[in-house]
Amino acid sequence: MSVVAEKVSNPFHVAQRQFDIAADRLHLEDGIRLKLRVPRRCLTVSVPFERDDGSWMVVQAHRVQHDVSRGPAKGGIRFHPNVTLDEVKALAAWMTWKCAVVNLPYGGAKGGIEVDPKALSLHELERMTRRYTNEIAIIIGPEKDIPAPDVYTDAQVMAWIMDTFSMREGFATPGVVTGKPISIGGSLGRREATARGCTVAIEEACKHLGRPLEGMTVAIQGYGNAGSIAHDLLHERKAKVVAVSDSHGGCHSARGLDPKVIQTFKNESGTVSGAPGTDRIGNRELLELKVDILLPAALEGQITEDNAPRIRPKILAEAANGPTNPDADPILHENGVFLIPDILANAGGVTVSYFEWVQDLSNYFWTEEEVNQKLETIMKRSFRDVLAISQEHHVHMRTAAYMLGIGRVADATRLRGLYG
Ligand code: NAD
Repeated sequence: MSVVAEKVSNPFHVAQRQFDIAADRLHLEDGIRLKLRVPRRCLTVSVPFERDDGSWMVVQAHRVQHDVSRGPAKGGIRFHPNVTLDEVKALAAWMTWKCAVVNLPYGGAKGGIEVDPKALSLHELERMTRRYTNEIAIIIGPEKDIPAPDVYTDAQVMAWIMDTFSMREGFATPGVVTGKPISIGGSLGRREATARGCTVAIEEACKHLGRPLEGMTVAIQGYGNAGSIAHDLLHERKAKVVAVSDSHGGCHSARGLDPKVIQTFKNESGTVSGAPGTDRIGNRELLELKVDILLPAALEGQITEDNAPRIRPKILAEAANGPTNPDADPILHENGVFLIPDILANAGGVTVSYFEWVQDLSNYFWTEEEVNQKLETIMKRSFRDVLAISQEHHVHMRTAAYMLGIGRVADATRLRGLYG
């Protein structure tokens, strides 16, 4: 791969470019800039585990802590064959800015295992997860770094992490992970939180643009936790979701897709592609559909300078982390696309993770209404904060969100100074 191509597709280079654009706008001093451009700590481990046939397998895995000046590190764990250390570094940096945008007392982290989880049995997945937890246990903990679910990890994986960590400690330590099952210290509303926060941000964008959400057409790329629940919530609000997709392909119907029908079909067949009463559609094609709202909810690097000229929704709400490359941003902006950047659009997940951690540490649990209401308050306030910077400084919403997040982290870093 050429250096130029590598630079564009390497998520960490993307994250650094996004940082530089906002740092320039903030006139950030050199020292702070040097410190915040790179992660504080990267741990790479080899994880050995036994296959069901008795053979051994060893996978590479990472945990990266980008910054902890505002509080413990926080961020999900991803199981995917394309995980790389640079991807985890990018995702960790995005977590730092995201937590600061919604003003949570956290820094950013991320973890990943270079593995295809679909090729493992449930028992193999459990053994791998437990050994990975053991290997990274030296740097995680309720006061240090708190993992959560991400692509191809779920509440069950979090339960295994919580149990393994607790066994080492000798007592139940629910605050070590969020996104757990409710019965072991999970929070009501966490499962839906990413999609709910994204829906609140979309509603705020609609108000700002003076257009009702009701009747708007929507396309969603990715049909896991974020994408499928966004389908439910947008359908409830009478938006018309006309296309959805997953790693196998997508489906489309101009009449609109009923979430119950699509979810039942996916549960039975493993994909949304081929759902009854729909046409098949490819993932690339879905992004270029003429819709009012586009919701990428899968992986990074989906919108580039190549396809951006053909992507013209009124609102682009980035439920996924890093779906848009920096070269695509000015093209979208020029074409009048209103962007809700990932570090704002999907911040509902980490916000309710924060609520879960607070509930675990205080051993006092809230009702779902309380959780949802507090989430809505934070999402609305954060949307307003980012929009105000965008208007005041005449920058698009991504740069505005970065300016807000980086500004807060820079302030904490400056006040704390350098140790040693
Ligand atoms: P998930 O594992 O529940 O779902 C991922 C979905 O993406 C699946 O439907 C999968 O089939 C699909 N997918 C994978 N590769 C694809 C491809 N090439 N094209 C189209 N679809 C593809 O994961 P999730 O938790 O919903 O995460 C999705 C995105 O949202 C990620 O970028 C993640 O970092 C981000 N996110 C998730 C949370 C959370 O709380 N789960 C919070 C913030 C951000």
